[in-house]
Amino acid sequence: MRWILPSDRIPPAWFNVAPHLDEALAPPLHPGTRQPVGPDDLAPLFPMALIGQEVSTEPWIDVPGEVLDILRLWRPTPLVRARRLEQALDTPARIYFKDESVSPAGSHKPNTAVAQAYYNKAEGVTKLITETGAGQWGSALAFATSLFGMECKVYMVRASYQQKPYRRVMMETWGAKVEQSPVDDPDHPGSLGTAISDAVREAATSPDSHYSLGSVLNHVLLHQTVIGLEAKEQLQLAGEEKPDIVIGCCGGGSNFGGLAFPFVPDRDVELLAVEPSSCPTLTQGSFEYDFGDTAGLTPLLAMYTLGHDFVPPSIHAGGLRYHGDAPLISNLVKSGRIKATAYPQGKVFESAVQFARTQGMIPAPETSHAVRAAIDEALKAKEEGTERVILFGYSGHGLLDLQAYDDFLNDRLDAG
Ligand SMILES: *Cc1c(COP(=O)(O)O)cnc(C)c1O
Repeated sequence: MRWILPSDRIPPAWFNVAPHLDEALAPPLHPGTRQPVGPDDLAPLFPMALIGQEVSTEPWIDVPGEVLDILRLWRPTPLVRARRLEQALDTPARIYFKDESVSPAGSHKPNTAVAQAYYNKAEGVTKLITETGAGQWGSALAFATSLFGMECKVYMVRASYQQKPYRRVMMETWGAKVEQSPVDDPDHPGSLGTAISDAVREAATSPDSHYSLGSVLNHVLLHQTVIGLEAKEQLQLAGEEKPDIVIGCCGGGSNFGGLAFPFVPDRDVELLAVEPSSCPTLTQGSFEYDFGDTAGLTPLLAMYTLGHDFVPPSIHAGGLRYHGDAPLISNLVKSGRIKATAYPQGKVFESAVQFARTQGMIPAPETSHAVRAAIDEALKAKEEGTERVILFGYSGHGLLDLQAYDDFLNDRLDAG
């Protein structure tokens, strides 16, 4: 029921989806001139190696040895068949999930945090500055920078800072400094958009410091493709030629892209992104150029967006509260290769609890969106009497999100 690869089977190269797009990717635009940004515009924020990856059309990009050595602390991650969930649903479908919750920070996010810290350090940067929603990204970067002996400063969305103190403690344990965002308005609940503004503002004005983003950008999704590459190999070991559908929760798109992109060339594999109904970027947003942050400091990205001043409600899946989506994911949704769906919070937690009571593991609220969609796919297969093979991304555990479960179990959770 569990397929584990040996430690020398971590993919030696990342899969670049750029050469596989049907429509060309629209370039990011400078916020002032509205002309395509060049490497020099990005240099105050990112190391050249990552700027190169951002625009690369090479099909494969080598993973540096030092990055592999750190990934080996928890990778390759297990592929698990959710046999007990299948039995409870009485479905002919076979449900597999790729378990990214086994990383030190408890999610997929260290896959890119380690790579980003490595490339920054290699170019002489001593401090990374970032934002965090639920605290998952901040803790991933705090972990990664601590292994490279770098400083780390995290602007944390105020709503999450107050709901989730333990993630702040994780970050501080790994040596990071944490501040609530927005810094200039203590009554504002904050959003990923405001926190990005705070982080970019500080990074752009501090020498020896760079900015680091946990999702959305091409290089971040690239680093996450180890997930899908491993899963492909593990499905073979499980005796499956291919999944019929690959499902992932989608905030900025990094865990879903990491799992799904290696399947993009397999035309008959369906790809499904799942988002919250209260922040329905892909299902109800419009495809246009918009800022990545609230204050309008970042380049304009061509993406599905709800508008950069959209402030989503304080739902528990903090990592899915983003007004935009990765340009790569947006491109593939627009061309029809990726489909998207949205669920309200109440339905998501119902499925999270069903998963916990069959498989044992307690999923992160974000991850529970993928669990919900996988369950619905399995029920559809039962209705149709088909043996569908379902693969979903288990992006993180919910052991630091127990307040959300307490609210759900005691009817305090807003079902929307
Ligand atoms: C951050 C996070 C997400 C959402 O971010 P993506 O970039 O869309 O993957 C999903 N699940 C978990 C567990 C997270 O920490």
